[in-house]
Amino acid sequence: MSDRIFNFNAGPAVLPLEVLQEAQADFLNYKGTGMSITEISHRSKAYEEVNTQAEADTKELLGLGDDYRVLFLQGGASTQFAAIPMNFLPQGATADYILTGSWSEKALKEAQLLGNTHVAATTADGNYKRIPKMEEIKLSEKPAYVHLTSNNTIYGTEWQQFPTFGDAPLIADMSSDMLSRPFDATKFAMIYAGAQKNLGPAGVTLVILRQDMIERCPKNIPTMLRYDIHAKKDSLYNTPPAFSVYMVHLVLKWLKKNGGLTAMAERNQAKAKLVYDVIDAAPGFFSGHADKDSRSLMNVTFRLPSEDLEKQFVAEATAAGLGGLKGHRSVGGLRASIYNAMPQAGCQALADFMKEFQRKNG
Ligand code: PMP
Repeated sequence: MSDRIFNFNAGPAVLPLEVLQEAQADFLNYKGTGMSITEISHRSKAYEEVNTQAEADTKELLGLGDDYRVLFLQGGASTQFAAIPMNFLPQGATADYILTGSWSEKALKEAQLLGNTHVAATTADGNYKRIPKMEEIKLSEKPAYVHLTSNNTIYGTEWQQFPTFGDAPLIADMSSDMLSRPFDATKFAMIYAGAQKNLGPAGVTLVILRQDMIERCPKNIPTMLRYDIHAKKDSLYNTPPAFSVYMVHLVLKWLKKNGGLTAMAERNQAKAKLVYDVIDAAPGFFSGHADKDSRSLMNVTFRLPSEDLEKQFVAEATAAGLGGLKGHRSVGGLRASIYNAMPQAGCQALADFMKEFQRKNG
């Protein structure tokens, strides 16, 4: 496997090698069907097992019971930005959004097309370098729901603890830190995540809904956006992205085999520490974008003293087998995305490379 690089891309992103190998071994003849998983009917027993197991494993990893449903939908997290207000923002009601980056802004923008909204808190001042404190969050009188983004992929910030707001349904976009740490999922009325960071390839979006939310869905919106229909049909209302769901299923199995969310969080903390320690040891050379108490364990964002050095860093890192480190244009600089599947050795290699780069250019 020496020709595989350490892939620090923000998404699509690195997947566990074991999962890729399992998919490769099964690709031509899935479980004796004589067909690839990409060729079999989504109504077949073989696919139904994948679909059912993936729902059960997601619930098991999150400790969720029968009062929750897990759906595998299409259109990316971006489609959820619109589906959420369509389903849960009735006329005359107000939906609250906590803005912590570009993805929460995009979620808000879609809701604004469909109903009344309220910005309950924003950290746009200072270019989204932190998560708001509890006391900064000012809800509207009776929000239809409160929406937050658990991890801000572009800015490299992450909620360290999740708030609760009494009866107001809490909805979270967890696209870039889903299943990376244990948390109390029962606090949430809905959780959603595009798969292409921590869960699998692009093409499928994981949507977790509390049963009472499903019962609220209106009947007068397009069928493909109706959560109640997708729940009733077990995510098989139309042809699902079978290969992507199958890959998510393998990733879920891998997560369970590797100790679940507690073990994942320990690994992720140790991995992120390797990189943040190098940043903190040379504050004149590396400057982290996120405030320390808002730092993401998934996306580490930092700058160097000049854009020329940043370009040189990316070029030399790429040549050294460390790929995808260029930062997003809104923050500039560098971003190391170190999702669940990034091995510790990848973070160690990056930390060593950073130290050496600083020694030569600092
Ligand atoms: N939310 C977050 C936090 C993201 O990082 C992304 C993608 N980078 C999205 C939403 C959009 O996801 P998709 O491309 O699946 O629509």
